[in-house]
Formats: sequence, structure tokens, C-alpha cells
Amino acid sequence: MSQKKVCIVGMGPAGLMAGTILLEQGFEVQFFDHKKAAGRKFLVAGHGGFNLTHSEPIEAFLEKYNHQFIQSAIQQFDNSAWINFLEKIGIQTYIGSSGKIFPVKGIKPIEVLSAWMDRIKKLGGILHFSHKFIDFSDKEVVFTKGIQEIKCDFDYLILAMGGSSWKKTGSTGEWKTILEDKKIVCEPFEASNSGFELENWNEINSLEGQTIKNIEITYNSTKKTGDIVISNYGLEGAPIYFINKEFRKDREGYFTVDFKPSKTIEEIKNVLKKSKNKTDGLRKMNVSKTVIQFIKLRTTKEEYSSSNILAEILKGMKFYPTSLRPIDEVISTIGGVSMESITNEFQLINYPTIFVCGEMLDWDAPTGGYLIQGCVSSGYAVSTSILNNKK
Ligand SMILES: Cc1cc2nc3c(=O)[nH]c(=O)nc-3n(C[C@H](O)[C@H](O)[C@H](O)COP(=O)(O)OP(=O)(O)OC[C@H]3O[C@@H](n4cnc5c(N)ncnc54)[C@H](O)[C@@H]3O)c2cc1C
Repeated sequence: MSQKKVCIVGMGPAGLMAGTILLEQGFEVQFFDHKKAAGRKFLVAGHGGFNLTHSEPIEAFLEKYNHQFIQSAIQQFDNSAWINFLEKIGIQTYIGSSGKIFPVKGIKPIEVLSAWMDRIKKLGGILHFSHKFIDFSDKEVVFTKGIQEIKCDFDYLILAMGGSSWKKTGSTGEWKTILEDKKIVCEPFEASNSGFELENWNEINSLEGQTIKNIEITYNSTKKTGDIVISNYGLEGAPIYFINKEFRKDREGYFTVDFKPSKTIEEIKNVLKKSKNKTDGLRKMNVSKTVIQFIKLRTTKEEYSSSNILAEILKGMKFYPTSLRPIDEVISTIGGVSMESITNEFQLINYPTIFVCGEMLDWDAPTGGYLIQGCVSSGYAVSTSILNNKK
């Protein structure tokens, strides 16, 4: 039997995983990317800690994803399978205090990517850079390289061109119109895992870059604890990203921040009433200098000097988001190829020889390693579907 030919467009974690597995199974795999190197966004994700996945048990893990196809991909190739894969290519990992999983200290993101690319090259993967995807049929994919047009026929085509943020990494989302022209339903791109721009923020600029730890955020009935970071336009951080989904629904209203979730409002009032002044009372409760400054900037003198009002502010300061951050600046996007356009095997319904994986698909998950895990798991699921499909 002749070797089956697979073309993969996009050398991010999703495409690389699909290709590695197929190479291991003896397929002829050609990878294409319009950038001059692979995995640019994967490397950006490594800035300030390369959070590759999370260690939590599978039930809680699955709840982080909003679509059953991705959940079933995670079940096929879960966090342990991804960690084992990394070990196989020589990358040891460790679990951080928050349960997030990182490469062991001293291993740089580029070393993770290089180890993976070395494995692909050793298996015989053929790499084509500076190839821009411009067209396809069920048998052939077309690229431009400079002024040259290049056609490549395939038995299977895997599309793994990512979402539409951080365009400089190559994830431009330009593929969307090409797919829509072929009647593949795509959803509009929207910011996910985004900071909030907030009303009346100018006075807060002096605190830019400060982290406020262990807060609880509430938006409608959604609650999340964690750390938030003050920026020059609003707030960033995992609890903020968590409520993006709720905010996107109606894009109005406010969220509240409880700066002292470990104490009740009555306990706080009592401490404040007994203290010589309010700042002293806040310090006694271990409220950080940043939170004290923050509250001072956002309250009148009268409010700050009232124990009752100050306690209420500490337990539930209101914030009115004006918008999410511009799409190009966010960690991930939703939108892209509709989950209605694919089968549960990640195969395009209208083009059974073509499969889609990674952030190119319209699914959502929070930060914390869940995005990269969703991408490699869907890449793995595509490789399994192709293996099952092989005639
Ligand atoms: C700042 C930042 C921090 C992040 N931190 C984390 C984190 O800590 N943990 C986590 O899990 N995730 C994180 N992510 C998200 C994660 O990096 C992405 O979800 C993941 O890289 C998506 O993988 P992918 O393979 O689907 O697509 P991508 O990694 O986006 O790769 C797509 C590839 O397709 C190529 N391509 C696109 N269009 C074309 C075209 N027309 N022709 C040819 N090639 C094309 C691109 O050049 C690119 O190489 C972060 C992202 C950002 C931006």
C-alpha cells in the first residue's frame, strides 16, 4: 500500500501534534506555514512562565471547555498524555503551587519547541516556511511563496492556522474568508481571555503594574477568586478572563471585587470601628498597601472615613467595563470555524478529506494551560480520525 500523503497548514501546537502522531504511524507529512519559523505564538505563551497544561483531575478539567468535541479530544489525549509526550521528547515538567504545569526550571520555551521540531525532522517531516495558504479543494491545497504559486496534492489536509490575536506571530485569521468562500460556516472572531477596559480609570494610572492578590470577583452569578493586575486601561488577570464569557453576552452592567473574601462585612466593620483610623484598621486586616491606595483613589474622604461605607467598598467595589481589549492584544479568540461545520472527528462536513484543529475552531477555555492542552488534544484527535479513516 502506498504511503498516505498529509498536508498540514499551520505549525502551532495543534498542527505539530497532529503531524507528529501521523509521522509516527508512517504517513508522509508536509507542514506549511506562512511565517519563517514554527510556533511563534507557542513561544509568546512562554513569556513569563510556560504554562503547558494543568494538573487538576479530569472531571474538573473537562468543565473548563465549552464544547463536547473538545472535551472528548481531551479525554483521548489528556494532561498526562501531553506530559508523557513532552517527556518523550526530553522535556521534563513540574507542577507549580497553583496546579499549573510548566517545563522544569531552566528549560526555555525555545528549547521545548526545538526538541519538538527535532523529533518531527527525525521522523521525516517535511517543513515548508513562507508558504501562505490561499486556496484549497478536496484534493489540493494552494499557497503563495512570494510571487510563486505552489500547489500540493494530498490524501488528507489538516488546517491548524490558529485564532486571530497577536497577528505578528502569524495567527492573522485571514484564512476565514477563504473558508467562507467555500461555504464553510465560520463565526466572527471575538476577544477571549481579555482584560477589561474600565470607566473613570485615569486616576488609577499611578498603580499600573501592581498585582492585587486573593480577590473574589462577581459578575451576575459568576464568581472567581484569584489575583488581578492593574493596567493603564483597566484590569487583567485570570479572574477577569473568567468572566469574559458572561460579559460578552450583553456587554453591560458591572462586576464587583471583594478585596477581603476571608472576612465578613460585619467582621470588617468591627475592626474598622475599633481602630484609631481607617488605614490602620485596613492594615490590621492585612489589606495590602496597593489595595489601600486603590481604595483611596476611588473614594471620597467622607466614604473612606465611614466604617460602614468603607467595609462595603472593601467587600464589593463596583467596576463598569466599557469594553474588552482590542482583539489583537488578547490571549485567545473565540469564533473561527463553527463547531457545526465539523463532525465529532474534527472532519469538515462538506470536505471529508479535510480536518481542522486548535484555536482555528470556535471553542473557548480559560488560561491556565487549558488552551495549549485543547490545541494539542484536538491535534491528536485529528490524527486518530485520519488513522481510523485510512482505507
Ligand atoms: C500572550 C499569550 C499568552 C498565552 N499564554 C498561554 C498559556 O500560558 N497557556 C496556554 O495554554 N495558552 C496560552 N496562550 C494561547 C496559546 O498560545 C494558543 O491557544 C495556541 O498557540 C494556539 O495553537 P494553534 O496551534 O491552534 O495555533 P497557533 O499557535 O496560533 O498557530 C497557527 C499557525 O498557523 C500559521 N498560519 C496562520 N495563517 C496562515 C496562513 N494563511 N498560511 C499559512 N500559515 C498560516 C501561523 O503562522 C501559526 O504558525 C497564550 C497566547 C498568547 C498570545
